[in-house]
Amino acid sequence: MKTTGAVLYKHNSPLVIEELELDPPQKGEVLVEMKAAGICHSDLSVLTGVFQMPPLPCIPGHEGAGIVREVGPGVDKVKPGDHVMILWAPSCGHCFFCQHEQPYMCDFRQFTRGGMMPDGTHRLRKGDINIFNMTGVGTFNRFNVMTQNCVLPIDKDIPFEIAALTGCGVITGVGAVLNTAKVKPGSSVVIIGSGGVGINVIQGSVLAAATKIIAVDLLDNKLEMAKKFGATHTINPNKENVVERVMQLTGGRGADYAFDVVGSPQLVALGVDVIRRGGKVIMVGMGPADQKLDLPLTPLLVMEKSLISCYYGSSDMCTDLTMLLDLYKIGRLDLDSLISNRYSLEDINQGFADLVAGKNLRGVVEM
Ligand SMILES: [Zn+2]
Ligand SMILES: [Zn+2]
Repeated sequence: MKTTGAVLYKHNSPLVIEELELDPPQKGEVLVEMKAAGICHSDLSVLTGVFQMPPLPCIPGHEGAGIVREVGPGVDKVKPGDHVMILWAPSCGHCFFCQHEQPYMCDFRQFTRGGMMPDGTHRLRKGDINIFNMTGVGTFNRFNVMTQNCVLPIDKDIPFEIAALTGCGVITGVGAVLNTAKVKPGSSVVIIGSGGVGINVIQGSVLAAATKIIAVDLLDNKLEMAKKFGATHTINPNKENVVERVMQLTGGRGADYAFDVVGSPQLVALGVDVIRRGGKVIMVGMGPADQKLDLPLTPLLVMEKSLISCYYGSSDMCTDLTMLLDLYKIGRLDLDSLISNRYSLEDINQGFADLVAGKNLRGVVEM
């Protein structure tokens, strides 16, 4: 069949909207008609080449939601007509990691991260050129074929754009607090970076009943937004010394937890500086692969400061995503206010320009 997608042929050049050939779903695969796709910083990292995966040409986009239109043999998770959320980290349910409460580390990742189907083949072409899909899902595409492990059925009353965001920034941010850090009620929390994921670390901290929620960002408009989502204090490093201000707010001890949501060695180091003895730094943001941490070993040890990595919110996608959508339905998670702009697929390059300009908390492509 034919589909229309946004193809990246060259790093740092605009996406090309064009017609592509799509093969039908094979064993264990599903054809999804995409209805909404989120524009995320990780997509930008693919566009700029900061992330070297997948190979080019590729369809970026890893956040999405849509309707299953066709299923291949052996598919038992969904049927045609089901509404689904796209999962950029699939879980198969039976590998070592899935059976040891780390489904976000599932063996399937190695295939989908390479942008191909699990059997190493492609379903998408332009002429005789194979097109790769970011994390095996390539959501900036009106139709796409993916393994059934990359979709999760959702209730039909959940808006597609809400489901699209929940599958990445929301579960990562809230999961970092509830699953990775296991923030305790009454805690003090510093969030470095108040973008799409950072805001959800703030929302997660509210859910965990943290009582000092301190948002750090260089942009005042993002700090304003952080307050709306539950930050109790904000710090702009251009105007105030972050370490001094956090110490002031935490009785001179430092915070219980700090989250680096940007992904930079300097900000992880800042996190170490703002936590108390026995505190934890949670690394949520993903920066360039060649960056290295440079931290003093002994002070970390004698103050028992911990560094913890957080991938996909350390989540069990099936149970956690359902929980998050339930929290949305009863008004405990504000997902509507996360969306700052909507774009057509044809206007997707404008969406990225707005993301770079700091105008978007979250932009959504409506297919
Ligand atoms: Zn994302
Ligand atoms: Zn698995």
